[in-house]
Amino acid sequence: MRRARQSMAFGWSDRILVIGGGPAGMAATEELRRRGFTGDITLLCDEPDAPYDRPACSKSLLTGHARPQDVRMPIDGSLDVRWMHGRRAVEVDMRRRTVLTQTDEEFPFDGLVIASGSYAALPKGWPDGPGMHVLHTVDEAWQLRQDLRHAERVAIIGGGITGCETACAVRELAREAVLIDPKPYVMGRAVGEPIGYMIAEEHRRFGVEMRLGRRVKEVERRRGRWRVSLDDGSYVHADVVVASLGEKPDTAFLEGTGIDISRGILCDESLRVVGTEGVVAAGAAVRWPNLLYSSEPMMVGQWIAAVEMGHAAARTLLAGDREVPPVGIVPRYWTLQNGLRVMVAGDFKPTDHIVMTEMRPGRKDTARAGVMASYYRDDELVGLIAVNAARAFTEVTRAMLIDTPVRVQPEPVSQPQRTRTGSERRLAAVS
Ligand SMILES: Cc1cc2nc3c(=O)[nH]c(=O)nc-3n(C[C@H](O)[C@H](O)[C@H](O)COP(=O)(O)OP(=O)(O)OC[C@H]3O[C@@H](n4cnc5c(N)ncnc54)[C@H](O)[C@@H]3O)c2cc1C
Repeated sequence: MRRARQSMAFGWSDRILVIGGGPAGMAATEELRRRGFTGDITLLCDEPDAPYDRPACSKSLLTGHARPQDVRMPIDGSLDVRWMHGRRAVEVDMRRRTVLTQTDEEFPFDGLVIASGSYAALPKGWPDGPGMHVLHTVDEAWQLRQDLRHAERVAIIGGGITGCETACAVRELAREAVLIDPKPYVMGRAVGEPIGYMIAEEHRRFGVEMRLGRRVKEVERRRGRWRVSLDDGSYVHADVVVASLGEKPDTAFLEGTGIDISRGILCDESLRVVGTEGVVAAGAAVRWPNLLYSSEPMMVGQWIAAVEMGHAAARTLLAGDREVPPVGIVPRYWTLQNGLRVMVAGDFKPTDHIVMTEMRPGRKDTARAGVMASYYRDDELVGLIAVNAARAFTEVTRAMLIDTPVRVQPEPVSQPQRTRTGSERRLAAVS
């Protein structure tokens, strides 16, 4: 019997394989069981300590408020998922429907969920040595933590969220922190320009030495320390360097499958991997048309989005060939930057119309007193960034989650176009 239920493409005798033990992979396994899939679920994960709270890697693990064992997450045994730790998928054979791991084991699948996330990227030829760090895994965070204990001066290259959170942790440990970024403000991609300037100012006040608007020309090890040369001819000397230069989707194992992995795994609007059958993907490795904002495939690298995508991808997989609603995700997360609680929801572009609202007008320190940046596109609210304005943020975001309409119609990125009914145009995943 191939199908245990008419409504489900996979039955009790089928095998679903999940690659990746982060929030997207875990959420997919939960949803598969919740939706009644009774067949075999096997999850491959190369990290021995997964699952764990990755966001803690740039926060409590660095400051010493948590140790690696504190951030591990429990595996729910009742889900009856076979976790295969220490297994890295190195090759996928779509014709035979098997995945090969670095341990030379072969895992057959009927349905496949790819949730391999991303890794910390470094430019070619980047130097290595004592005190040189990237920050993505719990191991990397813990190694950095050990070095921070003995360091006096730390150079953080890259002023994105992770770089800024690392600078906060370094200052909290009473070490000198130098933050280097080519832009004149920080967290530009995450919060845009106006709020990026406010956060940069807060870091300055907290004692972080800001080298903004400066590019790194060379990093070299000299007399037991690192010397970072900047494009204005100045140098930053440091015991520890944290290269926080962005992330890349972890997709090398998909080479040769014909899947478009040029900038993340290309999926259709329901998270089916384009050009495949019975294969879906979720999380930070994915590029898909998030029709709440654009028909242009986009990537979202946040925890909540990974969970929501994992759930949605599982539903799509179980639907088989049946039409399913597009997966619309409102990106959202928060970060603590010294005295500022920064909360972000939605999508925004520099071309959007920005409205700044001060929560307590007239106060000298606008950011600490509370401020919101609302981003409008075609007169519609698409993004919101709140600084020290949690209540207002929560109210507006709740409305955003309920009311965000489909802004665009899908373009044929992929699988054959399906005709949609009116009710299906509202995105079921936004709930
Ligand atoms: C330092 C840091 C701090 C962060 N802080 C925040 C925050 O405050 N808020 C927020 O919303 N987001 C935060 N994020 C982002 C968030 O953690 C990610 O968006 C989220 O973890 C993505 O989930 P995922 O399941 O797609 O991938 P991951 O969490 O990356 O999980 C993928 C897993 O798959 C494994 N894997 C990869 N390839 C293979 C393979 N071939 N075979 C087997 N296993 C494989 C990986 O090793 C990993 O264990 C942070 C990220 C980092 C690095």
